[in-house]
Amino acid sequence: MIQTEGYAALSNASELVPFSFEREEPQQNEVLIDILYCGICHADIHQCKNEYGGTQYSFVPGHEIVGRINSIGRNVTKFSRGELVGVGYFINSCGHCANCLSHEEQFCDNGITPTQNGMLSDGSITKGGYSKCIVVNENYVLKVSEKLNPIAVAPLLCAGITTYSALKHNGIGKKHKVAILGLGGLGHMAVKFAVSFGADVTVISSSANKEESARRLGSHHFILADKEILKSQSENYDFIIDTISVKHDYNLYLNCLKKDGTMILLGVPPEASVLEAHVLISHRRKITGSFIGGIKETQEMLDYCAEHSIVSDVELICPQYINSAFDRILKGDVKYRFVIDMSKI
Ligand code: NAP
Ligand code: ZN
Ligand code: ZN
Repeated sequence: MIQTEGYAALSNASELVPFSFEREEPQQNEVLIDILYCGICHADIHQCKNEYGGTQYSFVPGHEIVGRINSIGRNVTKFSRGELVGVGYFINSCGHCANCLSHEEQFCDNGITPTQNGMLSDGSITKGGYSKCIVVNENYVLKVSEKLNPIAVAPLLCAGITTYSALKHNGIGKKHKVAILGLGGLGHMAVKFAVSFGADVTVISSSANKEESARRLGSHHFILADKEILKSQSENYDFIIDTISVKHDYNLYLNCLKKDGTMILLGVPPEASVLEAHVLISHRRKITGSFIGGIKETQEMLDYCAEHSIVSDVELICPQYINSAFDRILKGDVKYRFVIDMSKI
């Protein structure tokens, strides 16, 4: 067994605290990764607080991991010691269902094993990247270019792939008018990719003070998420990408879609909302969702980022600052992703 340290929530009401635990030694097809950096995704906060139910404590979050290979199992062929790598939202899937075979492991018919709060075959619960090391099957590990700043790469492993995949799957690019709802971790990556794919991009934000940085990120327009202002946006967009993490009125935004326009839900508010049928029916609008991305697509996204010099805007913090970072995320006070320096544990 490998003795390691991390940060864990011990209950839905507790702050994260230093936590010692053990990981299994890497098996034949597994690699041991020394974690350098781990991003803080809003999903970590939802799960720490058990907002969806099902969180198993002690809960070690973290699924935006960048690190270096420390050692490899006997049958590992894809990686060698010292390589810079990434791990995202899941560390395993069945590998043989139709979705796994078509490189959409995130929709595995037999269920993925999430990097955090997932169940392993022996019944133990997976512990994520707010820790010094992790052991992962090589097929679920990504190669990270040495060209990019590894701190700013970490958020690509969830915020990056989630927005990239949603844009790609829906064929969003030139000639499309796209609105991004919520300028946080996911939102700012959605802006960067949508701009890079040639779309006309608008940020719709509840924070007036984000206008300048929205434009710096490449957004062509900025709209305040105010009921009256949104009325002036009616039938204006081909796509809306919704990254808002709290309950909100979908109908207000659906009204901003053109005929046949599509709203793509990425944010997962813990509370359900009411959908008004006529908002869809009157303009044949569509509402859909998107969930992270498969391993092949995540590698494609990382390679695209290396080629086009796209990374996340980050604030690097020590592990001791995680609880303050959570508070600041809940207040919308982060531009645009906290990344934990795991060497400081
Ligand atoms: P985040 O950094 O906290 O960003 C969320 C944004 O939502 C905020 O920056 C804010 O933008 C807006 N917002 C927050 N509170 C609001 C409020 N009271 N009213 C209106 N808008 C508010 O979170 P994130 O890490 O980007 O994650 C966003 C959501 O996506 C979370 O629910 C997360 O669990 C989910 N997620 C989904 C996937 C997937 O695969 N679908 C993957 C990762 C995360 P403004 O200040 O600009 O309004
Ligand atoms: Zn995430
Ligand atoms: Zn499968």
